[in-house]
Amino acid sequence: MHIELKNKTVVAKATHQCEWCNEAIHPGVMCKYRAYVYEGQFDHGWMHMDCHDAMTSIDWEDGDCWSPGEFKRGSLEQG
Ligand SMILES: [Zn+2]
Repeated sequence: MHIELKNKTVVAKATHQCEWCNEAIHPGVMCKYRAYVYEGQFDHGWMHMDCHDAMTSIDWEDGDCWSPGEFKRGSLEQG
């Protein structure tokens, strides 16, 4: 069960690792910040805008999951 707490567009203030593609998000770059509870665990992270678009282009079923770095940047192609 995934409960989204926050999902906002922010400008990175430091270097973050993208949850989707595992590539760096550099300071000054617009990105998505998400805070959520997944299976009872609080987690949060940053994503490239194009990676977030790729993620939201799918209707995820409850119980579907993916691992950070599983996909290529901005794509649903597994990397
Ligand atoms: Zn990314």
